[in-house]
Amino acid sequence: MNYRKDRYGNEISILGYGCMRFTQSGGKINMEKAEAELMEAYRAGVNYYDTAYVYPGSEAALGEILAKNGIRDKVSIATKLPHYLIKNGGSMEKYFAEQLSRLKTDHVEYYLMHMLTDVKTWERLKTLGILEWLAEKKASGAIKQIGFSYHGNADMFCRLIDVYDWDFCQIQYNYMDENTQAGRKGLLYANQKGIPVIIMEPLRGGKLVSRLPEKAVEIFSDYPIKQTPAQWAFKWLWSQPEVTCVLSGMNSLEMVRDNVATASNVKIGEVGEREEAMLRQVVQAINAKMKVGCTGCGYCMPCPQNVDIPAAFSAYNHKYSEGSFSALQEYFMCTALRKDYSGASNCIECGKCEMHCPQHIEIRKELKNAKRHLETSVYKLGRWLVKRLKAY
Ligand code: SF4
Ligand code: SF4
Repeated sequence: MNYRKDRYGNEISILGYGCMRFTQSGGKINMEKAEAELMEAYRAGVNYYDTAYVYPGSEAALGEILAKNGIRDKVSIATKLPHYLIKNGGSMEKYFAEQLSRLKTDHVEYYLMHMLTDVKTWERLKTLGILEWLAEKKASGAIKQIGFSYHGNADMFCRLIDVYDWDFCQIQYNYMDENTQAGRKGLLYANQKGIPVIIMEPLRGGKLVSRLPEKAVEIFSDYPIKQTPAQWAFKWLWSQPEVTCVLSGMNSLEMVRDNVATASNVKIGEVGEREEAMLRQVVQAINAKMKVGCTGCGYCMPCPQNVDIPAAFSAYNHKYSEGSFSALQEYFMCTALRKDYSGASNCIECGKCEMHCPQHIEIRKELKNAKRHLETSVYKLGRWLVKRLKAY
């Protein structure tokens, strides 16, 4: 495993464990499987474990696995304050106490303001006493380092970097998002201020691996250096010295082993001009097939009208990357076949979802487009049949 340093010189494995995607079985985390995967990563040298208050069951599962295996003191935990749920000063303490209890620990190494969107939000937290509260937690050792996670554009990111003495930050970054989100501009800005950067969404919600357009797959396979799409995506990140750690939501032993192997062998500067040019061609091939830049993060959910927004966009994009039949099949399964119908036509355009979308997608407009393309007469007939069957 390769390691890079945090702001205080502690070594962080360049591969971090994203605990958001533990496998669920029957609505609960499959603890046996999660433990086997996490321990495989631990034995390979992964020492950074990222979770959040709002990831269902994740903090408790992580706490349990670390305690059961007696490795809490050997690793660092990064978790996040759900500041958007905070109504008054007292609730910071309430959430934090609950997090410590779930994680079975008395401190966390890295604590982030979860999805800090803008300076205004930070100012609101200040009026609720966040500065005093963080100072007290840091002084007592309950929180070692303070950061924020971010999904917006580069300009706001740079402004947020300047509003507090952050110890680290976390951004969405991958070869598709080099010039969107905080992007390379944000990465360099934070780095120049001495603030380590943790990377999330290295595979853009899996889109840089699964269901790549044929043209993109061809570009990878024609390239003389043979790597899988996931290996290229990770190498592109680790090749950059400004990147401290890349989170991977590993949920299979194969994925752990593959990510560990890449993280152990990669070298800074390894992705050079020729590889960059190849990846730019891949980006062009993907963009040519994508209608909506949805990463499937689910922050827009739940919709009060039960629209499954990420599912609608996924099917809409697949219509262009995989063809109409496959898209229709996917959309039908995710909407009409559900117990409660969850198609785009449920949308009443309230706009609630758009406030939460880190990709700033015009969800209402795009849902209308998705509906126009996916809710065909065949779909409507199928839906009518399903309704009749449900009535019996
Ligand atoms: S705009 Fe439509 S999809 Fe978004 S929350 Fe409102 S009803 Fe749901
Ligand atoms: S629409 Fe936005 S918030 Fe919703 S899943 Fe897609 S990227 Fe995430």
